[in-house]
Amino acid sequence: MDCIFCKIVEGSIPANKIYEDDTVLAFHDIQPAAPVHALIIPKKHIAAMKDVREEDLPLIADIHRAAQKVAKELGVDESGYRLLNNCGKNAGQVVFHIHYHLLGGAKLGPLNH
Ligand code: 5GP
Ligand code: ZN
Repeated sequence: MDCIFCKIVEGSIPANKIYEDDTVLAFHDIQPAAPVHALIIPKKHIAAMKDVREEDLPLIADIHRAAQKVAKELGVDESGYRLLNNCGKNAGQVVFHIHYHLLGGAKLGPLNH
């Protein structure tokens, strides 16, 4: 499949990995928007949040569990962080393999447009 994040999961495109388990992978964003900017993805290809089905919901729990571990690993669990999903065009989704941004390491701006 022509999906950049599936290729990272397969290992055919390199990534700076932070955490991996059976269902989830976390790696550093190639173009960080904050001092800490990780991406957390399910290994299963799901295009966007709107495509998450009932049977996929355990993967969303897995992502939250991984986010706690990533935040700890990167030293932002106490200072604070933001976990963010962009779904679709108006949110600015560019990569259509569902992913959650974990942002931290500095005081983040308000969520306005
Ligand atoms: P979106 O706008 O879809 O929510 O975010 C996509 C994110 O993926 C962007 O922050 C972008 O920098 C990141 N990204 C795109 N291609 C790659 C890549 O090949 N490797 C890594 N590590 N990050 C990528
Ligand atoms: Zn994919």
